[in-house]
Amino acid sequence: MTNPYPKLFEPLTINKTVLRNRIIMGSMHTGLEDRIWDTDKLAAYYAERARGGAGLIITGGIAPTRAGLLLPFGSKLTNKIDVIRHRRLTSAVHREGGKIAMQVLYAGRYGYTPLKFSVSWEKSPVHPFQPIKMNDALIRHAIWSYGRCAKLAKDAGYDGIEIMGGEGYLLNTFLCKRTNNRTDKWGGNTENRQRIVVEIAKEIRKKTGPDFMVIMRQSIADLVKDGQTWDEIASLARKLEAAGVDAINTDIGWHEAQVPTIVTSVPRGAFVTYTERLREEVSIPLIASNRINTPELGEEILEGGRVDAISMARPLLADPEFANKARAGRGDEINTCIACNQACLDHAFVGKKVSCLLNPRAGRETTLTLGPTRKAKRVAVVGAGPAGLSAAVAAAQRGHTVHLFEAGEQIGGQFSIAARIPGKEEFSETIRYYKRQLEVTRVQVHLNTRITADELIEQKFDDVVVATGVTPRMPNIPGIDHPKVLSYADAVLGRGEIGKTVAVIGAGGIGFDVSEFLTVDDSPALNIKEWNEEWGITDDLTVPGFVGRPRPTPATRKVYLVQRKPGRQGKTLGKTSGWVHRATVKMKGVEQISGATYDKVDDAGLHLSFDPKEEGGERITRILDVDTIVVCAGQESVRDLIDPLTVGGVNTHVIGGADVAAELDAKRAIRQGTEVAASIV
Ligand code: FAD
Ligand code: NAP
Ligand code: SF4
Repeated sequence: MTNPYPKLFEPLTINKTVLRNRIIMGSMHTGLEDRIWDTDKLAAYYAERARGGAGLIITGGIAPTRAGLLLPFGSKLTNKIDVIRHRRLTSAVHREGGKIAMQVLYAGRYGYTPLKFSVSWEKSPVHPFQPIKMNDALIRHAIWSYGRCAKLAKDAGYDGIEIMGGEGYLLNTFLCKRTNNRTDKWGGNTENRQRIVVEIAKEIRKKTGPDFMVIMRQSIADLVKDGQTWDEIASLARKLEAAGVDAINTDIGWHEAQVPTIVTSVPRGAFVTYTERLREEVSIPLIASNRINTPELGEEILEGGRVDAISMARPLLADPEFANKARAGRGDEINTCIACNQACLDHAFVGKKVSCLLNPRAGRETTLTLGPTRKAKRVAVVGAGPAGLSAAVAAAQRGHTVHLFEAGEQIGGQFSIAARIPGKEEFSETIRYYKRQLEVTRVQVHLNTRITADELIEQKFDDVVVATGVTPRMPNIPGIDHPKVLSYADAVLGRGEIGKTVAVIGAGGIGFDVSEFLTVDDSPALNIKEWNEEWGITDDLTVPGFVGRPRPTPATRKVYLVQRKPGRQGKTLGKTSGWVHRATVKMKGVEQISGATYDKVDDAGLHLSFDPKEEGGERITRILDVDTIVVCAGQESVRDLIDPLTVGGVNTHVIGGADVAAELDAKRAIRQGTEVAASIV
């Protein structure tokens, strides 16, 4: 079959290095970089992505000197002993026919270490430790160490390096007035602020010779107050080209930005126009990034001719075979990254090893293996939510004969409800992926089949996987069966009238999602212009950082979000996405009430009492005069099959929500599904 993405698979030459296609796996810190005993795991992780066809892999950030470490004892390349370790990574990738570049990252004030150096004494708002302001000697040492590091990277067999110049790390803080308040030759006017970056580029070129691939990860939209203007960004790009940089990988937003840049509610390709704009300034290859997760979108961007390659980090974590599948016309088999951050960035930011919600093998390539089984068995999987789907597909891939029983008329379980939330449209890609995988792996799917224990026993399966999931919990509140009360499932699936004023009981992940669902008609994730307005991203490129006043569309309903716990709501939401949900409900004027006791529901609405904001005040009783009450008070496991199956002597495995409902998410459901499939031998 002809390649459906001709542009994506056109080779690209950067300096003297020829990439087999234009899919670049962007840098992601996995946590495996930091410890010597994880080197083989990291090599296996990269090798799997090289085997999967990526044009170029860029490593997680590696410090050029101890002073630039991201973490205490974090990853670095500063001497010949480090070179030996890095060579194991480059060899693993080269053996698979891939190319690999190392990202050089000097953390600056974003280092999670008590001893760190930065452009000024100012602490970052998102990190605990105060940095030390670099003097002239330290700056010169940093420049020299970049050159040394790049030369060592060349010795270690890397095909090139990438200089991390964005996201608020050291170099970015020199570039912006926001952080650079220096009055010496490294601060003040634009030229002075850019000096360190340009000198580093020259130093690297000097130390590595003319043919070594040098890529700059340049911030082309800081999205913070007092960030760079477009003129400054353009002038830096021109200077970098002149200094010998071979390509610019464009970067968006600082970690401390109050504008989301990669979560699932950011529209696909939201920032491509910035990369395209840079085409006017330089002639070296330009790489677009952020929220590009399908080969179709990659092809469309390249077709415009202004961008030369696509950076996809998380999409290759989710599916290491992304490139091979796309090239073979099997794009519908790609496990599309849903930008949830739950197992990648949320892990990275709390010091846990990175993996993927959709692909629990990511980072565990050497320990979670799904090789062919020695003895094919007849396996029944009950429930086609994320847990059952992952178990069924993985077991069938291993050669088992799998029957999947689902009570509903379609697959997806609770995840199909999630996919209806504005900003979570990506979740339907996961259901599409599993639908296709069930066909590819020839799982026998029985929809509209609420299978019983007797039927399962009668059919004599070797193993039964119970993945019957959860049902919404209905709390014991007087009047909870009033017609104005709906479960979240009924509300989102349109199985009941929802009025103009609504109280949401329960402010967990689903309570927040449902509040967004209730206040929004058209999802801003589907409209870049509207989304930019919502978050205050301005078209005026003379505004430093391109952030202005947010102009959210008004809420379509009045919503009250209530929880029993006292204090701030949404504390359990994801580290990197929770703040976006909290900001969104605030933007939509959702009234949040914590510390509530639910007294009753009747025609007048929801009767509750709660403590006042000021300490020692009288408890407030209130009736929320609402048309509708939506209950998001957690879930309960569906476990009715387990005892009869066990008593019937069936080899039974219980996974996902059926196992434990508390703190259930799709990450655990899919992981347990994959692990159970790996264990059936
Ligand atoms: P379920 O999804 O409940 O699936 C169980 C399936 O079993 C159902 O399809 C059911 O019909 C079927 N079944 C039950 N009994 C039988 C039987 N006897 N015979 C046949 N079939 C049967 N998770 C995240 O990780 N991130 C999110 O951002 C996120 N957002 C969410 C937003 C919303 C609005 C909702 C509702 C959920 C969200 N979740 C999210 C949670 C996630 O969807 C669940 O954790 C996950 O679906 C649980 O998977 P499961 O397979 O264990 O169970
Ligand atoms: P949850 O986060 O545990 O929240 C349940 C809410 O219901 C809490 O606010 C709880 O708070 C309240 N509650 C519990 N029992 C109650 C009772 N008997 N009466 C009244 N209120 C009660 O669960 P969820 O919102 O149902 O989400 C389910 C899972 O899906 C979560 O584990 C979450 O990880 C996942 N999810 C994740 C995301 C995401 O963005 N990552 C989004 C949606 C869902 P009080 O006890 O204080 O009232
Ligand atoms: Fe993408 Fe979520 Fe997997 Fe991260 S955890 S790679 S965001 S699907």
